Order: sequence, then structure tokens, then C-alpha cells
Amino acid sequence: MSDAPKYRRVMLKLSGEGLMGDKDFGLCTETVNRLADEIKAVHDLGVQICLVIGAGNIFRGVSAAASTIERTSADYMGMLATVMNALAMQSALEAKGVNTRVQSAIPMDTVCEPFIRRRAVRHLEKNRIVIFAAGTGNPFFTTDTAAALRAIEMGADALLKGTQVDGVYNADPKTNPDALRYDTLSYQQVLSQNLRVMDTSAIALARDNKLPILVFSLHKPGGFVDVVHGRGTYTIVE
Ligand code: UDP
Repeated sequence: MSDAPKYRRVMLKLSGEGLMGDKDFGLCTETVNRLADEIKAVHDLGVQICLVIGAGNIFRGVSAAASTIERTSADYMGMLATVMNALAMQSALEAKGVNTRVQSAIPMDTVCEPFIRRRAVRHLEKNRIVIFAAGTGNPFFTTDTAAALRAIEMGADALLKGTQVDGVYNADPKTNPDALRYDTLSYQQVLSQNLRVMDTSAIALARDNKLPILVFSLHKPGGFVDVVHGRGTYTIVE
């Protein structure tokens, strides 16, 4: 069996919490560095990588809006927080010699490029990792939906969601020892059983555009390399 990667171009979605390490808030530099190593290892295989990073480690619109901030403003704050995470990951990757570009859905020309699809494609062709920041640029969405949207726009072969556990379970495996892990799921099963893979708009977008979603653990060293080869433990939604 050939050991060539199964995917030529992938979208990797990381939640903001994935960058937190053991902290309760913000960025853990060791964790960001470790993830950058994992991403570099896949990049070294010649796989083109798009990245979307959430902001749950800094700011989540829904929870902030429950207090006093108007929901749309809170969502814009969440989107701005994703830019901070994107810049942190960009620095970590570039320190390891990987060329990157950050493109933001909310233009902020002195900080990063605006999102321009054709330009992003060109970056990938030139072996640069493109980090898509500021989500979709619209309130009432999440970075899961941004990851699905950009994956489709960029013609990615798969959307890889790196999480705290090694796939999708029928219950929370951290609290329920009897929780069962799925190897494969259909989009419809995820939607009808309300399985917590990604939010429903992301799943619907993936389904309508036949984008496979692979859920794998960020904690296992080499997990990202494994999943792009179709090896290791993960759940595939297709
Ligand atoms: N957000 C938004 N529109 C988007 C993407 C994100 O309004 O297209 C806001 C929203 O408030 C969200 C926050 O940014 O709560 C952070 O994103 P998310 O919750 O998806 O981060 P994650 O859970 O992946 O860390």
C-alpha cells in the first residue's frame, strides 16, 4: 500500500480552546508550538493546508451577549479574537520556517490580507499555509461554519476537525465510560441524532457540497499526519 497522503488539500479547523493548554483562558505558547509542529509535519508531506481557528479561548459572542453586550457586537468581538489566534499560529509556524498568510474576512489591511479567494489559492500553490481569520465575517455564525465555507471555496478535499477526543461519540466519553465511538456517520445521522460534531449550518454546508469531515484527537502526537493518510483513530462523516 502506498504511503502517500490521501488528501492533496485540506482544511484544518482548530477550536480556540485547543490553544489554551491547561490554562482557563487565552493562549498557551507550548500548546501553540506543539500544534504548529503537527501542522508542519503535514505540510512537509506536500499537503496544502488551510487553517481556521476559533476563539473560545478568548471570546464567545453567545455567552457575552447573555450579559450586557449586544449580540452582533459580541459576535464581532469574537471574530476579532480569532484574528489574535491566527496571528499567534502564524508566528509559531513561521518560526519553524513554514511560510504562511493570514487572510481576514473583516478587512484590516495593516494587520493581514483581506480574504480574496483567488489569492488564497495562489498562496497554497506556492506552498504557503493560509490561515483564514475573522470567521465568515458575519455575526450569528461560528468558525465551524467558516471552516466548512472556506474549505468548499478553496476546493479542499476534506475538512479535518482536531478536537479533545478521537472522534464522535454517542455521549461525552469524558464523563460516560460506556460512550460509543462512531467510525463512520452520514451527514443525516449527525443532524437527526443531534451529534455534536460541528454546528448544524456547517454540517448542512458540508453535506450539500459533499465535503467529508474527519474528527480526530489533537492530543495524540502525529495524529494530524495519520489522519491525512487515512490512518489512526477518527470518525468520518460523509
Ligand atoms: N463568530 C461570528 N461569526 C463567524 C465566526 C465566529 O460571529 O463567522 C464569533 C462568535 O461570536 C463566536 C466567536 O466568534 O462565538 C468565536 O468563534 P467560535 O465560537 O466558533 O470559536 P471556537 O468554539 O471554535 O473556539
